[in-house]
Amino acid sequence: MRPELEATLLHCRNLPSPPGLALQIIELAQDPNATLADVGRVVELDPGLSARLLRMANSPLYATRRRAHTLVQVMSTLGLNATLSLALGFTLMHGLRGRHGSTQLQEHIWRRSVLSALAARTLGQHAGAGRADVLMLAGLLQDMGRLALLQALTEGYAALSAKANGNDALVALERAQYGSDHAEIGAWLAARWNLPSHLVEAIAASEAEQPAQDPLLRCVQASGAIADLWLAGSQPPVELIEQVNTRIAACIDASHLDAILSEIAAALPDLSGVFDIHIDSPAHLQAIAEQAREVLLLRNLRQIQELAQARDDAQAMRARIHQLAEQAQRDPLTGAYNRLHLEEALSRAFALAGQSPLALALIDLDDFKQINDRHGHLVGDEVLRKFAQCLQSRLRADDLLARYGGEEFLLMLPHSDEEAATAVLQRLLAAVSQQPMAVLDDGLIHVTFSAGIAVHNGAHGRFDSVMGLLQAADAALYAAKRSGRNRIHLHRG
Ligand code: GH3
Ligand code: MG
Ligand code: MG
Repeated sequence: MRPELEATLLHCRNLPSPPGLALQIIELAQDPNATLADVGRVVELDPGLSARLLRMANSPLYATRRRAHTLVQVMSTLGLNATLSLALGFTLMHGLRGRHGSTQLQEHIWRRSVLSALAARTLGQHAGAGRADVLMLAGLLQDMGRLALLQALTEGYAALSAKANGNDALVALERAQYGSDHAEIGAWLAARWNLPSHLVEAIAASEAEQPAQDPLLRCVQASGAIADLWLAGSQPPVELIEQVNTRIAACIDASHLDAILSEIAAALPDLSGVFDIHIDSPAHLQAIAEQAREVLLLRNLRQIQELAQARDDAQAMRARIHQLAEQAQRDPLTGAYNRLHLEEALSRAFALAGQSPLALALIDLDDFKQINDRHGHLVGDEVLRKFAQCLQSRLRADDLLARYGGEEFLLMLPHSDEEAATAVLQRLLAAVSQQPMAVLDDGLIHVTFSAGIAVHNGAHGRFDSVMGLLQAADAALYAAKRSGRNRIHLHRG
């Protein structure tokens, strides 16, 4: 390849897409029900998009994955969103229709690519030369060098193509003018874009005079000639028919030609919507590109919204889990911690106490049974609730209040010695006595409590276990009850 051409092609990153396909991509990108398969049916007809997606899927960004050889692999590697985002970045060439024929030539190359793709697939399947999608992709991309030359040189390449009478003449002219033909240029570009090596080989071999060794490459070689036969219309030149026969004979029995041609005809998708859309003005091309950019922006915004929503949902879920976990630790009637949580917290505090005092107070409402008996259970419940609230509201964050049994509560006071714990309990008893625990039609209900305090690491020694500490507090409570209730009793060893 001549150095100046190489320098130009070095910057070629994308090949132009047919406007009809570009419009179909825009439509799919706006359709919330579009699937990867729908996108695949458009992409497989567009060499530019196919090459772009292959390049992206095989870029270092996705390098941890397996290499993607086919469009199905590419799209499942990228996923629907990334595929559509990349597809929306298609390039529309600003070729002016009628000027040196560059737009007609572009359409001709696109048509030839699609026909070659179908021919390679059909032929390859008859010859058992490989997977249908691999054959189709190789057929589709064989002329990517021509698209790149047209993209880079526009009118210059259109003029050269117009001079050529047939494909072989074109190849000869290209070699004379550029030092390379479009097959070599396409393969060079495909290798630079890191496309799979069998595709690079298929493109490189597509215009070779000698039949290739590999059956798949031979099918690709024949596919271009079949496409030309198709495009030649009802009266193809005899040399072309001969060439097709020779090339097909290298793949399968040439007597199958008619069958293969009618199979291609049957497989031919309705291409009228794709290639017959003529866009004459650069302004119209600009408008399609603009629309694609807008759809891309909208899709990105929607994805950002969906991400934000997913984040909010996850946060709400975490809050709910936290709430449920908290609830599981609480007594439903009073909101104080339940006994299970208390036992865990107490074991932990006991183990971590070290030399620090840890006070435990067992609190029991006085004559509570009478409240139930006189006013009923509901009033009793209300009293228990109010009582727990009254205590809770007067405690430090480190203190822990739990409902131990019916009308018995346990209060754990870390870092509190006998004196401090007694002061806390006295303060609580004064507050409870003053505050009515229920308001009834015929008066207020006041309660008192008795409490037994025991302190681990206090003035009266250490305890060997939580159980010992609890038993000491219980004994102190019993002493408080026995000596008249409404009082605090301290365990003194
Ligand atoms: P003492 O001063 O000796 O502790 O007398 P008391 O009446 O408080 O003690 P006793 O153990 O005789 O009675 C406790 C009562 O608490 C009996 C039980 O029906 C009541 N009780 C236990 N749990 C609940 C509850 O959840 N709601 C209501 N309303 N009453 C409860
Ligand atoms: Mg009791
Ligand atoms: Mg009681």
